[in-house]
Amino acid sequence: VATLAPAFVYHPSYHLNIGEHVFPAAKFRLIAERLERDGLCAQNHLLLPDPATREQLLLAHTPAWVNALLDGTIRYEQVLKLEIPYSQPMVRAFCHHAGGSILAADQALKQGRAFNIGGGFHHAFAAHGEGFCAINDIAVAIRVLQQQGRISRAMVIDTDVHHGNGTASIFHADRSVFTLSIHQENNYPYTKPPSDLDVPLEDGVGDQEYLQHLAAALRYAFDTFQPDLIAYVAGSDPYCQDKLGGLNLSIEGMRQRDTLVIQAATARNIPIFVTLAGGYAANLDDTITLHTNTAHVLSAPA
Ligand SMILES: [Zn+2]
Repeated sequence: VATLAPAFVYHPSYHLNIGEHVFPAAKFRLIAERLERDGLCAQNHLLLPDPATREQLLLAHTPAWVNALLDGTIRYEQVLKLEIPYSQPMVRAFCHHAGGSILAADQALKQGRAFNIGGGFHHAFAAHGEGFCAINDIAVAIRVLQQQGRISRAMVIDTDVHHGNGTASIFHADRSVFTLSIHQENNYPYTKPPSDLDVPLEDGVGDQEYLQHLAAALRYAFDTFQPDLIAYVAGSDPYCQDKLGGLNLSIEGMRQRDTLVIQAATARNIPIFVTLAGGYAANLDDTITLHTNTAHVLSAPA
């Protein structure tokens, strides 16, 4: 694995077209702009993904769910569970996020590190979507690279404050993919299909305790499983001022979280790609800062 600068992946279509919503769909564009301002990546160096194809989506999702989304035959109760309004632009956006994670995974294999300024929709199951997640871009990307014969084994390290239920479910019987979720136990989703390693945390856990649990989980995971590729699901919602999270991490604690995960990959010379997942800080600017800090750590992991 070379040590080039990370590749950054983004598409204007990432905006989910969901109107006024607790999910800040503007964050994708705002992070892309902040990355340029911080000198991490000029806008004209961002890699533009193609939308994931129907065939690619079918590697992680059932035909019934893919058809319901793409053909507009989704049922009312399926939209309710999704908790975002259904539209063709919304579906198109999720296809672009999945294409972005495929491209980021591809770039990680080529140059070691890549950052999708989107993706991380870990609540999407094979046969339904929920919790603002229609398509599980993480699972689609891993399955595409496996099908291409470019990786055998992958590890998902999910540090979003919410359990990675969709990803855990999709890979439950798949021994080629190790799933790790460190999350607030007393929070959505209330039914949590088992990951290969779950680290449930009490309400209000702060920096020091969180980082101890994460470091121990990473040691166990890499003692147990040697992946060819790591998908880092870097939700910014463990942050103390998150509206949907109940953990108590500071901005500096979140940066140390990123450092632990990214160093675990780079120290072992394992390609890693980042997806954003959730982030609902009371102040949107904090959400942009937290996700951008992940990109800073990825760019200079030493
Ligand atoms: Zn979340």
